[in-house]
Amino acid sequence: MAERRRVGVMGGTFDPIHHGHLVAASEVQAWFDLDEVIFVPTGDPWQKSDREVSPAEHRYLMTVIATAANPRFTVSRVDIDRDGPTYTIDTLRDLGEQLPDADLYFITGADALANIFTWRNVEELFKLANFVGCTRPGYEMEAKMLADIPTERVTIVEIPALAISSTDCRKRTKRGEPVWYLVPDGVVQYIAKHQLYPSGASS
Ligand code: ATP
Ligand code: MG
Repeated sequence: MAERRRVGVMGGTFDPIHHGHLVAASEVQAWFDLDEVIFVPTGDPWQKSDREVSPAEHRYLMTVIATAANPRFTVSRVDIDRDGPTYTIDTLRDLGEQLPDADLYFITGADALANIFTWRNVEELFKLANFVGCTRPGYEMEAKMLADIPTERVTIVEIPALAISSTDCRKRTKRGEPVWYLVPDGVVQYIAKHQLYPSGASS
């Protein structure tokens, strides 16, 4: 029997994608010897309904630009082409159907991992994928949460600390401050070209 492929899934709003996302994906790729990491920009992000999110096409294209040079990185439209809000269960179901010969590794930062237990269908989530929680500056993993995690399905990986967030990148752009070296060069240029975060807009 052919060996199963090992595929990482990095979900995110990516508004914009930054080096924190890329380092997390790269570290987990190396750590688990993944054949591929698929970045999956969200559709309508229900957890962020308190602010305007950039159009999915812009977030998708920034993700393509940021990942283009890495032969193991790809981008999926599965969430942005599905109507309605994005639930991780749907992402994993759809990718699982597209990739029946793959074991999936869902990659999250410490903040998103903390939310897993508030996600719907936790039991099914654990059947569909392994979960990899990456350390993230400013978000401690509480001992209580770690104690609740089923260790056979969730692995915590310590990655180089990059205190970068998309929220901060948007704020900096709105204030006219640079985001060079926080996001890939092509993304800096894409943001400027399309004036994605004009001053005066909400963060
Ligand atoms: P926002 O500020 O808009 O929430 P973000 O920087 O948190 O943006 P998301 O698109 O929300 O980026 O995150 C996608 C995934 O990447 C999440 O699992 C998140 O925890 C993880 N992540 C984001 N930034 C980092 C970072 N600097 N280090 C480790 N993981 C990160
Ligand atoms: Mg976030």
